[in-house]
Amino acid sequence: MKKIYLKLRKTVTPTVIVICGVLILLSLFAANLFFFEFGSDDSGYAITPVLIILLLSIIGIVLCLWLRRRIVRNDPVMGRFVGERMSLGPVGTNKSQRKFGFMTIRWLIMLISFFGLIYGVKWLGQGFGNIEIPIFACPINQDQLIDSSCYTLSHLNSLVGMSWSEIGIFFGSLLLSIVVLGRFICGFLCPMGLLQDLTHETRQGLKIEGLSLNEKLYQRLKPIKWMMLLLFLGLGFVGGNFCNICPAITVSPALAGFKVSLFLSGFFMIVVIIGSFFKRRFFCNICPLGYLIGLGHRISLFRIKKDCQACTECGACYEACPMGIKTIYTEREKSDVTTADCIMCGECIDKCPENKALAMSFGGVKFYSASRKTFMSGHKKTERKLKRFIRKRDKNESDL
Ligand code: SF4
Ligand code: SF4
Repeated sequence: MKKIYLKLRKTVTPTVIVICGVLILLSLFAANLFFFEFGSDDSGYAITPVLIILLLSIIGIVLCLWLRRRIVRNDPVMGRFVGERMSLGPVGTNKSQRKFGFMTIRWLIMLISFFGLIYGVKWLGQGFGNIEIPIFACPINQDQLIDSSCYTLSHLNSLVGMSWSEIGIFFGSLLLSIVVLGRFICGFLCPMGLLQDLTHETRQGLKIEGLSLNEKLYQRLKPIKWMMLLLFLGLGFVGGNFCNICPAITVSPALAGFKVSLFLSGFFMIVVIIGSFFKRRFFCNICPLGYLIGLGHRISLFRIKKDCQACTECGACYEACPMGIKTIYTEREKSDVTTADCIMCGECIDKCPENKALAMSFGGVKFYSASRKTFMSGHKKTERKLKRFIRKRDKNESDL
């Protein structure tokens, strides 16, 4: 029995520990269910359950960290080296040394889009009534419905009652969004994307080690993506409502101050916050809307290009990619390395040390390319150390 117990402990990985933390949170959530059921006649703002979600997420993260430390430290095998690894800072460039550039612009666009979609949509709804917004923006509430392709896609059965012109507008705006923006929406405009990036930055700022999925785990996500897509498109037909389980509903309508029921979506939001704290863009890896847009990537104007001659196969792009896209590193022939999973975040280009090995283009025009200079600007200290090392080594060699 003791042998089995020890064997079990040896196989415990931080991933399993995170799942345990989520399960504990589930029981916490079950005990507090009533907090999330805001009735339609409730006069309170939905910001209250949002704050509870935030609080429960923090408790969940602390629990996960505590469990990870405790189990890993007591583990005779893992504790030997993981204890040291956990004290290490985040691997990557030194952000304080980076200059204003593509990544700063991305953060600015994400912030503008966040407030624009949440408060702008609220204002538009009050001013113009029913309007169609391509892809993103949840309908705020039933009295003040702002339609979006996302909402219609998750309620495909509603197409039956629509006129031909309305159906045309819906499919037209969807197609236009896929062609003009594609998954640029995920990397730059989605409010869920900003929230996940903020939780990731918080972890990095606290110098806590995250989790990285290996290739096998990324492969296993594929059936989950299809399952989510099926749920997203099909739930409406069997009398369900995907919005009831979508974590995004806790962001835009709730933060805008409208009354919504955060029942299951509230719980999934807690899972998303904990997940994205440990794994960057956790939800984007299984988001059905993002995947659906990604499936149309061949007709999208945003592309990731690779110069296979300039690439030195260092693998830094794969390491940096929050979506675990390996072809960006392994591709040796094709110049177009855009895939359905690519959210156009530009992290691979930012971390690529070879001039013009990777680039982002729009309509064939490259507007952001990998640059050694930009890459090295984040490694000034490392560069100085390296120079000192080379000088010392050369001196030693000449002395011999
Ligand atoms: S391939 Fe590059 S741009 Fe696409 S998701 Fe990965 S890091 Fe972001
Ligand atoms: S980071 Fe740049 S040089 Fe390194 S493997 Fe990726 S594309 Fe090639």
